[in-house]
Amino acid sequence: MKTNREKYDLIIVGGGAAASFLCLSIFKLNPNFNILILEQSVTFPLKIGESLIDMTALFVQRLGIEHILTEQTTKTGIRFLFNESNSFDRADVAEFASPSYKGRIKGYHLNRSLFDQQLLDEVEKKGVHVIRPAEIIKNVHTEFDNQLDIQSNGEIHLVQSKWLIDASGRSRFIQRTMNWKDQKIGLNTGSVMAHFKNIAEADEWDTPMNKEWDTCAIGKRKFSTTHLMRKNRWWWIIRLDNETTSIGVVFDNNKVKFENPEEFFLAEIKNDAQLSRLLAKAEIGPIRHIESVPYVSERLYSKGMALIGESGAFIDPLISPGLELISQQALTLAELLVDDKKTNHFQAQKWEKYNVLFLKAYAARLKMYEAGYNFIESYDLYTTWLKAGNVKYFSGVVYPSILFPKKFKKPLTFTRIEQLGVSFLIHRLKKIHTKRINEGRISATLPNTLKYSGVRIPNGAKFYIIPLKLIGKAMSGYLRLELVELKSRFKKH
Ligand SMILES: Cc1cc2nc3c(=O)[nH]c(=O)nc-3n(C[C@H](O)[C@H](O)[C@H](O)COP(=O)(O)OP(=O)(O)OC[C@H]3O[C@@H](n4cnc5c(N)ncnc54)[C@H](O)[C@@H]3O)c2cc1C
Repeated sequence: MKTNREKYDLIIVGGGAAASFLCLSIFKLNPNFNILILEQSVTFPLKIGESLIDMTALFVQRLGIEHILTEQTTKTGIRFLFNESNSFDRADVAEFASPSYKGRIKGYHLNRSLFDQQLLDEVEKKGVHVIRPAEIIKNVHTEFDNQLDIQSNGEIHLVQSKWLIDASGRSRFIQRTMNWKDQKIGLNTGSVMAHFKNIAEADEWDTPMNKEWDTCAIGKRKFSTTHLMRKNRWWWIIRLDNETTSIGVVFDNNKVKFENPEEFFLAEIKNDAQLSRLLAKAEIGPIRHIESVPYVSERLYSKGMALIGESGAFIDPLISPGLELISQQALTLAELLVDDKKTNHFQAQKWEKYNVLFLKAYAARLKMYEAGYNFIESYDLYTTWLKAGNVKYFSGVVYPSILFPKKFKKPLTFTRIEQLGVSFLIHRLKKIHTKRINEGRISATLPNTLKYSGVRIPNGAKFYIIPLKLIGKAMSGYLRLELVELKSRFKKH
């Protein structure tokens, strides 16, 4: 029996940030694209992914919807705090800081439910048809033909499109219904998180005040994305506003075992010198557990279907790369889909190029994050690692994206020579870490150690000197580390 189906150029499953980023990128190229979004929720629940880095803010700005960020909290920088001996003396906490100074771009801490809703409102205004709440009760897919039966508020909608994009996040609609497989990966992490109210002020738990931050940065230290680096795990502290703070831990599942995630989360907080004081009087909201954080689909498209955002892959939230990768994907997918509609021709090579490029980008991040968990608690090992990462990220991604807007869509990948360099550094840092464990040593830091990453994106001519400074910091950091190791050898003899 023939049915009358409403026809669209594109149907998107899921109405989160990935879906909206894609629609807005498409409309920049072709405002007449006929898109349907199916979103299952009536209103967005509390969502994770609350730190938006400068690069994603740049993307939002270029989409022409920067105004939505004014309702969010300005992120004032990034901090990494190390406390290898779990000391209650605040002077023993070593800090690696990147305050945000006035410059070309800045980041934000997001109320994600609000942000995703604002984005969805923007795309609706531009003509996207949204069915919400949408329950997909039947889906049939053949090459370049997707037919879905949707139930919404007691009505049935029969819809059809040439292309279907999965933006359903961790629900992973295509993976589930079409049995697409995931790659085998080495990284095996989990996460537990909650929102807190009434957390303690800095003088009860944080490192002593930082004059430079207070006088030069764009805002108070407490609104920075703060990472507590601990053995086999790291914590994020993200103040969403004056009341609510998001706190979560990501850990290596191979090394950190527990039966009950809530008990684990509360015990970890109680036993940690800084967290216990930060949260001594805080009220805690619902605790959420994600058993397996990373995964990567074996492929990102087929003829008539493609994945974007967390429906396809996710690696690790440290330094908040989630939304940035999604924006890069959105730009590339938008070009492919608009081109497909214009020419009515499937550009097989270009789609394959997209697939290979993004799978390479995930592989690069997997390598970096996987290695990092080996020495994540160590101040000098991990900051050496971060400094090397800063050189690559700022000179390879941030700077080109600011100077040449078309470069924005190229995600971070490594050349063969860079891969050799990364492998060497990983090998060296792991070796030093193992040696230190065998010798009962940790990073030797002076009281109140505070070092700056040198990362900034200033206006004017200074902008061009920063990558050179970052190279200098990375090289001197590494040499200092080797010197420390050399000295320790002589001390023994
Ligand atoms: C622990 C952790 C911390 C993170 N922190 C950060 C961070 O600080 N910064 C950052 O940039 N990223 C972070 N991320 C990644 C972050 O989750 C992503 O950036 C982003 O939320 C993914 O967006 P998305 O649109 O792909 O998925 P989602 O935001 O999950 O949106 C998917 C949407 O699809 C809908 N949906 C699902 N199934 C269906 C269905 N069958 N039918 C219809 N609708 C459906 C859902 O209701 C939802 O609205 C973090 C991830 C983890 C695991």
